[in-house]
Amino acid sequence: MAQKEIMPLGVFTSIGAGLGASLEAVKEMGVPTVQVHAPAEMLTEEDAARVKKQFAQAGVEITLMFCGYYGESYKTIQIVRETVGLVPLATRDERIKMTRQVADFAALLGIPGIAVHIGFVSEDHASHEFAELVGATKGVCDYCSALNLCVNLETGQETADTLLHFLKAVNRPNLGVNFDPANMILYGSGEPLEALRKVGSYVRSTHCKDGVWSDEPGVEWGKEVPLGEGDVNIEEFLRILIEFGYTGPLTIEREIKGEQQAKDIKMAINLLTSLKKKLLR
Ligand code: MG
Repeated sequence: MAQKEIMPLGVFTSIGAGLGASLEAVKEMGVPTVQVHAPAEMLTEEDAARVKKQFAQAGVEITLMFCGYYGESYKTIQIVRETVGLVPLATRDERIKMTRQVADFAALLGIPGIAVHIGFVSEDHASHEFAELVGATKGVCDYCSALNLCVNLETGQETADTLLHFLKAVNRPNLGVNFDPANMILYGSGEPLEALRKVGSYVRSTHCKDGVWSDEPGVEWGKEVPLGEGDVNIEEFLRILIEFGYTGPLTIEREIKGEQQAKDIKMAINLLTSLKKKLLR
């Protein structure tokens, strides 16, 4: 059997109405893996069978499926605080239900796991809010564990210390981290490489994304920029992942659309390919 490639490249993509096109684009880029954003409107068994076949035929492995929820907005950091993930109480139950549907779909696809933007975890670790969110997350992890799926939390909204505390409080072996170094900068939640050193043993997947700090971190968004042009230090990011024994995919995320997105992703592929060559000798 061929040995599994170490740190295979991937791109973050979306399936749904534009499945054909986006899969074509992925094939053209020549990357062996993708993470996909879960389509809310197509989670049937037939859809799963079709998606599974299409990706298998294309020779592209889906490594993770991201949950998204109705009513989320990323307009400002404050609006994220109010609307994103499992944190807002008003929508928590319906979103847990949606998360279970995504998990069922992921299990039908036979992929390793799902990922969630959980929202702003309270920095007050003794609070009722923190304890309730821990309980809700345990439930999601247990549901996924029965389906043999991991649950990866996207980084960015909280500090590494709070994330670490939260992971330990939930205490489920299938709970891990999707480390997005740029998010730490965009949200102003801490220096990403320092954060990676703290939570590195929990990292199961990554977003290769770059960003520059805003003048008012935590209040105004930082700016996402092409990989290698921001404040992350991608070479050092990869070096630390390797130190932690990380072998999973390097999934490029570029949150713009159109021609420029494709160009930037190709540039990112070149950058990561050369860095892998240098660091994995
Ligand atoms: Mg991300």
